[in-house]
Amino acid sequence: MKREEIFERDEWRCVYCGEQFAASALTVDHVQPQVRGGDNSGGNVVTACATCNFRKGHRRLVDFLLDEPAALANFRQLARHVWPRHIRTLDEALRAGARRADSHDDSPRR
Ligand SMILES: [Zn+2]
Repeated sequence: MKREEIFERDEWRCVYCGEQFAASALTVDHVQPQVRGGDNSGGNVVTACATCNFRKGHRRLVDFLLDEPAALANFRQLARHVWPRHIRTLDEALRAGARRADSHDDSPRR
């Protein structure tokens, strides 16, 4: 998809902060990064404002969303066009990450 098509589909709304922006303030964010084989298909791209994309930086999407509960809530509500397999992968990683964050013991991983 082209940038403008992605922004129009998402109504110029950032999926992380939920605010609407002019196209000049928006970026295309890849759920599966291009360096990891993600492409520009509609199910792999979301609209993100430059501020959120900068805050996300080079973190994986799951790490960013674990650190930013508000962004996670917005993403769940707004990223409706993302492929279900990406959402499933994300959900599994979030559950695993939440378990790690909750666990304070040092028992070895089985
Ligand atoms: Zn944003």
